[in-house]
Amino acid sequence: MSSDCDGVRAVTPSMEGRRDARCEEDAEGEEAGERAAEKVLGRRDSTTVEYEEEETEDDDAGLSCSSSESSSESSSSSESSSSSEGYGFGRESSEMLALMERLAAQRLGVSSSELREATIEPVLDSFDLKGVAEYIKSGRAKNVIVMTGAGISVSAGIPDFRSESGLYSRLGEYDLPYPQAIFELSYFREKPEPFYKLSSDLFPGKYAPTPTHHFVKLLHDRGVLRRCFTQNIDSLECATGLPVDKVVAAHGNFDAAHCLNGHEADMDVVEKACRVGKPMRCAKCGEYVKPDIVFFGENLPERFYDCAQEDFQHCDLLIVIGTSLVVHPFAGLIERPQEHVPRLLINLERAGEAPNSEITRLYRLAGLGRGTGFNFDEETNYRDALHLGKCDEAVFELCELLGWKSDLEALIANCSIKRNL
Ligand SMILES: [Zn+2]
Repeated sequence: MSSDCDGVRAVTPSMEGRRDARCEEDAEGEEAGERAAEKVLGRRDSTTVEYEEEETEDDDAGLSCSSSESSSESSSSSESSSSSEGYGFGRESSEMLALMERLAAQRLGVSSSELREATIEPVLDSFDLKGVAEYIKSGRAKNVIVMTGAGISVSAGIPDFRSESGLYSRLGEYDLPYPQAIFELSYFREKPEPFYKLSSDLFPGKYAPTPTHHFVKLLHDRGVLRRCFTQNIDSLECATGLPVDKVVAAHGNFDAAHCLNGHEADMDVVEKACRVGKPMRCAKCGEYVKPDIVFFGENLPERFYDCAQEDFQHCDLLIVIGTSLVVHPFAGLIERPQEHVPRLLINLERAGEAPNSEITRLYRLAGLGRGTGFNFDEETNYRDALHLGKCDEAVFELCELLGWKSDLEALIANCSIKRNL
């Protein structure tokens, strides 16, 4: 028994030569296989912001509204009405299993009974912070991608949207007919006041970055951060001194603003308007000006797709922090790292899980180029670490394991932006 080229354990000794040859064929076969798989799996590659489930999550505020009406694409209620079925798999499990089995058996040149014996080399020593710390210390993490959600800004005091005291529970105060109206263009066109009122609270400068934001900066200082993809619109990543080009603000931010006809607005004027919460109009055409926050149904910035395309090819460790992964297409990024790349989720609760751990195992055996949702199943997990808890405490623990704790503390202590609520 020996390993083949990508960590899949040999099933029978006689197959080794055949498998080597197959590894070379992978590029072609992989592409065709992945196309077939995606057809069955109903993978979402939506271009506009949409939401997968109707539950509210207290650790995932940001632009996270959850009305099925706001799902721009088909709402596909039969496919994605529950999170257990929604994560990248949209069809019957038996159909997926059969397809995955066929692809995996074809690739390895084995029977289905032999396939059941096949094992996958774990890429982490343990599926927790310690395992990830060891992986980083070994020098294998040189292109870390961090994905962040509203959970990382909660301790900064950023008002969240969906918790009991969040924006969506204060509709009267904002005078909204329904929560998501605040991020709807049609509503904004008629009544921009609620969004401007929100902007007066959220405009950068009022809040200081959290230890988790500084942890991202620390990864950069250590030379291992490829990119931080964030759902947050608070720009706190860059408030740590992290260069702007290291961050992809998937749902936009307050760095620029345009009128509804697309004219760019003077940010000095926009900032003044936002700070006092008074809607402003375009100097050229008189239409309302909107900071470049992505509203429902709007396309994400092109940079999101450009960076996702390029960065994930190089990703050797994915760290997901403080998001329940219900907003697409952002949530689908966790499927982009190559299938041998370890992934870590730090969150108050489990998120982004594939509905069927056997499918994720077969996916790997089939050598499909991109991964699936997380698989934390003890039996079949080979790469997904999970840490349930508060983001800041988790990054301190991780830094302690890495021997970086004093560096993190220094970044926090030396930050020029102090909390000022
Ligand atoms: Zn204009």
